[in-house]
Amino acid sequence: MTEAADLAPIREAVRALCGNFPGAYWRGLDRERAYPEEFVAALTKAGFLAALIPEEYGGSGLTMTAAAAIMEEIQASGCNGAACHAQMYTMGTVLRHGSAEQKARYLPGIARGDLRLQAFGVTEPTSGTDTLSLRTTAARDGDHYVINGQKLWTSRAEHSDLMLLLARTTPREQAASRTAGLSVFLIDMREVKGKGLTIRPIRTMMNHATTEVFFENMRVPADNLVGVEGQGFRYILSGMNAERILIAAECIGDAKWFIAKAAAYAGERVVFGRPIGQNQGVQFPIARAYIGMRAAELMVREAATLYEAGKNCGAEANMAKHLAAEASWAAADMCVQTHGGFGFAEEFDIERKFRETRLYTVAPISTNLILSYIAEHVLGLPRSY
Ligand SMILES: Cc1cc2nc3c(=O)[nH]c(=O)nc-3n(C[C@H](O)[C@H](O)[C@H](O)COP(=O)(O)OP(=O)(O)OC[C@H]3O[C@@H](n4cnc5c(N)ncnc54)[C@H](O)[C@@H]3O)c2cc1C
Repeated sequence: MTEAADLAPIREAVRALCGNFPGAYWRGLDRERAYPEEFVAALTKAGFLAALIPEEYGGSGLTMTAAAAIMEEIQASGCNGAACHAQMYTMGTVLRHGSAEQKARYLPGIARGDLRLQAFGVTEPTSGTDTLSLRTTAARDGDHYVINGQKLWTSRAEHSDLMLLLARTTPREQAASRTAGLSVFLIDMREVKGKGLTIRPIRTMMNHATTEVFFENMRVPADNLVGVEGQGFRYILSGMNAERILIAAECIGDAKWFIAKAAAYAGERVVFGRPIGQNQGVQFPIARAYIGMRAAELMVREAATLYEAGKNCGAEANMAKHLAAEASWAAADMCVQTHGGFGFAEEFDIERKFRETRLYTVAPISTNLILSYIAEHVLGLPRSY
């Protein structure tokens, strides 16, 4: 499956932009666990984060394949798109399920980057992957909803104006079905910070700007509800294929970065009087990582193609995410090994990218849950949970 040649200019433009943000920039931020404001501003200004917003709302109206190419190039350049990838896809729920008024009110600002919608509040401390057990509640009170509860791992909440939030509006035992009773809200965090909304950063092994978020009698206007009350779980699921494809593309970019670094180093590092890459024990792991990356890349392209054709791509999006996350992690491990001791030195950027790419077999969905999906929905095996 080859890629349309017309993506070459986009890829080149992303590469050129990323060239202004070299390893030293990311190392400095990583040390401080600081947010890459300048990088995000540059991507926004160039319109890359508005790739999936239709032109009628001021976006670039590009395909999923093009959006995936953007994310891939960011990572392949050694940058970290996790700082802002959600700005690209979180708006999809509003686009698909929001009212005409919500779309007109929010999407142009998101496209321009004046409004950041890159906080996604689903995961909670007690429920984990079992989303239907989440405990955050939203109770209708006149023209408002009153929200109580807690979210965990709400990434970029401190760098976002809006949050897409999943909360329970009907108690589980009273809901019409197993998946009913959850609702999606588009919260303007600027209005409620300090008035029922508290955000606390969580320091992690990589620079990811993630947080925990507390809601205490947080009152939001009833028109923050997206779509129909009680249908939120379905809306959130419908956005997950885009997220999986784009993050899979990031993993492909990471894998390409690790493979290029390793191949270059193996060619120039001389030990025992010859380049280490002349030893099959060094070159085979690099070749193996490349093969794994290319296979995963094909699945990412297939998932993106199905997605933009409006076809069901649940299986392909999950398989793409799985294969790509495994490929990037395998390439990261190989890259450290190829570099020997230098793989651990900050200035080579490898240890930083190694920490960053480790996330993707866990989030936004962990390996076991993808395997369960394939077992149940593709192979027809009994549901295991
Ligand atoms: C840095 C970071 C950023 C994140 N950003 C966001 C965000 O912006 N918004 C958001 O909502 N969430 C976010 N998450 C949460 C992320 O989606 C979850 O961590 C992930 O889905 C796994 O859920 P969990 O941590 O609750 O693990 P758990 O559900 O507690 O699972 C722990 C382990 O058990 C396994 N497991 C659980 N149940 C089963 C089963 N039935 N069968 C087999 N294995 C099982 C899982 O695969 C996993 O390996 C982020 C997480 C991290 C670490």
